[in-house]
Amino acid sequence: MSAAELVTLVCCDLGSIVRGRSVLADELAKQLDAGVSWVPANHALTPLGPVAEPNPFGSTGDLRLLPDADTRIIVGAGDSSASALELVLCDIVQTDGKPWECCPRSFLRDALDELEQELDARLVASFEHEFQLLLDAAPALPFTLDAQRRVDPFPGRVMSALVEAGVEPERIFAEYAAHQFEIPVAPAEGLASADRSIVLKEVVRELARREGVRASFVPLLDPAQAGNGVHIHMSLLDASGRPLLYDETQPALLSELGARFAAGILRHARALSALTAASPVSSARLAPHHWSAGAVCLAERNREALLRIPPIVTLGNADAAGQLRIEYRGADATAN
Ligand code: GLU
Ligand code: MG
Repeated sequence: MSAAELVTLVCCDLGSIVRGRSVLADELAKQLDAGVSWVPANHALTPLGPVAEPNPFGSTGDLRLLPDADTRIIVGAGDSSASALELVLCDIVQTDGKPWECCPRSFLRDALDELEQELDARLVASFEHEFQLLLDAAPALPFTLDAQRRVDPFPGRVMSALVEAGVEPERIFAEYAAHQFEIPVAPAEGLASADRSIVLKEVVRELARREGVRASFVPLLDPAQAGNGVHIHMSLLDASGRPLLYDETQPALLSELGARFAAGILRHARALSALTAASPVSSARLAPHHWSAGAVCLAERNREALLRIPPIVTLGNADAAGQLRIEYRGADATAN
């Protein structure tokens, strides 16, 4: 029997769980104006399944998942062995279209607007994602060609799917822990970069499923090994696209605005970690000797710092000012 082509209208909750409802792909255009129904209590669901008690939303209320048509992705349409992965990211709105106060995507949009209004700055960000394939076989050595070839054709297929999804993956490589891989993606404007991070995880899981394995983004799978982090590289640009973090007269080439930006993150690091490292197991990863974020500090080129300033590469005559960025190492994939 044939299978209908479906598009899933999804949102991502504060625990990074993607949920949604599917419609017939042919009928998506009809759903763009009013979206599909959604329930406030869905955001009281815990990442382990059941509804949290107390559930602040109770059993009442109605919302809409309102698709952002620009975010639609279709992956694997040409693959005859499985149906394509199709999704579109949504804002969570009230039935009259006003943003729902707990919608994480609207929260980010508001924060980016505020940044622009107060500092005349736009955030450009990129994400590095680490994950592990759950395999029984003994792992190959870290960072080796062997580790990549043993799971062939997964690396090539996942990169091709990410290109198809518009995520702009930059590379893939075997990381330090058992069957661990990392995929950094190209920078994008604030909201688009966060959307990419959500899509990347779903595409990686999908491609792993198609190979008959599970991909896990858990922050720390084995306490004796390295964890799976999400490193967020951030730069700030003014309205004309001029980089705002670079100043060659300052220590570490970090402008005064950049230093203030970093200081704010360090000052609020504990509170921010509730959002960026949201699960109980997240804290086990955020310990010294994991090269995650062993100390709340800003450091040049040091992988134990919560905030790292990566090097400026002078090879290839790349523009120095455009390269200067701050890398936040304290996030993981259990965070929205
Ligand atoms: N796996 C480390 C983490 O949990 C990051 C290692 C690295 O890429 O520097 O964040
Ligand atoms: Mg890494």
